[in-house]
Amino acid sequence: MKHVVVTGAAGFLGSHLVKSLIDQGHQVTGIDNLSTGVSKNLQEVANSPLFFFREADVTLPDSLDFLVDQPVDEVYHLASPASPKFYQADSIGTIWVNTRGTYHLLELARTKGAKFLFSSTSEAYGDPEVHPQPESYRGNVNTWGPRACYDEAKRLGEVFCYEYYTKHSVPVKVARIFNTYSSGLRNDDGRVISNFVTQALTGQDITVYGDGSQTRSFCYVDDNIRGLQQLMAVDSANGEIINIGNPTEYSVLEVARLVKELTQSDSNLVFLPLPEDDPKVRRPVIDKAREILNWEPEIGLEEGLKLTIGHYRAMLQETP
Ligand code: NAD
Ligand code: UDP
Repeated sequence: MKHVVVTGAAGFLGSHLVKSLIDQGHQVTGIDNLSTGVSKNLQEVANSPLFFFREADVTLPDSLDFLVDQPVDEVYHLASPASPKFYQADSIGTIWVNTRGTYHLLELARTKGAKFLFSSTSEAYGDPEVHPQPESYRGNVNTWGPRACYDEAKRLGEVFCYEYYTKHSVPVKVARIFNTYSSGLRNDDGRVISNFVTQALTGQDITVYGDGSQTRSFCYVDDNIRGLQQLMAVDSANGEIINIGNPTEYSVLEVARLVKELTQSDSNLVFLPLPEDDPKVRRPVIDKAREILNWEPEIGLEEGLKLTIGHYRAMLQETP
């Protein structure tokens, strides 16, 4: 049994990861300041003897002191708002959690001799001029715009990881995560799948930004969590940046039409202005994940959307 620390445990990915680790019989300490995450995401594991939850802000220097006497085997640093709506609302906090927070958690990993995984993002490539994006592409990020707080903070988080790997030999792994979805995304989260599914199920207009020709590549959460755990497990991934995403690309308009069809919704598609610096294309090259992790996604968008729609339907019936 390992002792695994997960930050951002009450968030979308964190809560799915915590459940998976507990199912595998590991002892898990989840840390979250409940800024975008919700306790409800952890309801299933709240009473498990394997789970301990600590409400804390990991940007504060003493936030991890409670772990001083405990051995720690693995640290997953997932804390950070991920939706543009939320990271732009708390832009300074977003910078801190991905930089100072990353530093605190790397220090924890160093002092405990633990492995460390940083959840970076496809946003590290910005509005890419190379398509699809391999890990070797250095990106096209604007430092002077509404997405910079997230993109550049993640990039600096990666730099901290590099320094702790080269200077302190901490076994670090960086996952550049591409758009991931399923249940557990708040329906007011603002990200495209949660918006479209909620809008379609409640008969509201489906809000396509721009003309919907911008593309994304969507990964179902189970594939993502398997990828993150595999990245943590494989020693040859130490000191590596690896894309974790589904390489099948869709335009946002295609996604809107697919959601409308799968929900059999009467909602109208409406077109709203494209947000500033919204990347025009995004698709991962996953050769590195295939080679080093023996990982690739298994769940396509249509299958994943059907599962997601089922979860949202149930959730909306519970709390309309
Ligand atoms: P989320 O917003 O659902 O979860 C993030 C969690 O971090 C929340 O529970 C929030 O309360 C917590 N948090 C934020 N600041 C904190 C702080 N200072 N101290 C403690 N907890 C804090 O987001 P998510 O989709 O689950 O994303 C998880 C991680 O994966 C993030 O680091 C995100 O950048 C990364 N990521 C996610 C995606 C995706 O598609 N979901 C894509 C790329 C990267
Ligand atoms: N988007 C949209 N309608 C929405 C929410 C998002 O058209 O209601 C678009 C958004 O402009 C972007 C894509 O969907 O082009 C993905 O947005 P999201 O916020 O989910 O993630 P991003 O990849 O931009 O961080």
